[in-house]
Amino acid sequence: MPAYDDSNIFARILRGEIPATRVAENDHALAFRDIAPRAPTHVLVIPKRAYVDFADFAANAGADEITGFMRLCAEVCAAEGVDPASGGKGFRAITNAGPDGVQEVPHFHLHIIGGRMTGPMLSLRD
Ligand code: AMP
Repeated sequence: MPAYDDSNIFARILRGEIPATRVAENDHALAFRDIAPRAPTHVLVIPKRAYVDFADFAANAGADEITGFMRLCAEVCAAEGVDPASGGKGFRAITNAGPDGVQEVPHFHLHIIGGRMTGPMLSLRD
């Protein structure tokens, strides 16, 4: 795994150097709207500490950080009205890693996408 690059755009959002449309926050994580939304709901949830991708976060984050991150995801799903448990029509949660995962920003983030039918998970074609 490459070393964490402190100049990535989400690190800059966390430092307040560039703006973001923030939707929720707790001690461990921040949620903000994707700048190029693919659906009516397209929120990114990121940990506040530096992790390159999902595997880095899963392996190295503390229990409080993981819980805080996941709870913020749940809060976003409920607030956006996409959580089936509270009457929403559902959502897709995606995280990309590395070149095969087509990860653009090397700070771990979960995309929460909903408000429309999201379609098949992956194309079976190349
Ligand atoms: P990924 O390919 O999983 O790394 O996705 C990165 C996502 O970050 C893309 O969906 C971009 O539209 C989004 N993005 C890039 N720059 C910004 C920004 N300044 N504010 C919000 N979202 C951004």
